[in-house]
Amino acid sequence: MGEIVYWTLIRTAIALPLIWLAKDYFDEKYWWIMGALSITLFIIYPAYYSYKNFVEINKNVISNTLCSSCKHFDMSAVLCMKYDKHPTEEYIPCEGTDWEPNK
Ligand code: SF4
Repeated sequence: MGEIVYWTLIRTAIALPLIWLAKDYFDEKYWWIMGALSITLFIIYPAYYSYKNFVEINKNVISNTLCSSCKHFDMSAVLCMKYDKHPTEEYIPCEGTDWEPNK
């Protein structure tokens, strides 16, 4: 998840100055359209696609592991907050010893 945020910030840091510099080369009404389109294609869509991929890859960890029912599990980051590690289908950081119900 941090990687998605990192690359989104990098793309934003590159795209926004380029869009701003492009202002001199386009008529203002086209610049707004081009800017909105660029932001959508280079910043929003890749971030959305990466997040969708992240959820798809981790959907079994989020729904079918011991961690998914533990109060220390952060579903949005697929992270055990107690151990600060990412559980997988084969790897549970505490091996079940620190599991606590989330409700
Ligand atoms: S404490 Fe154990 S069971 Fe709970 S989220 Fe962390 S690794 Fe998973």
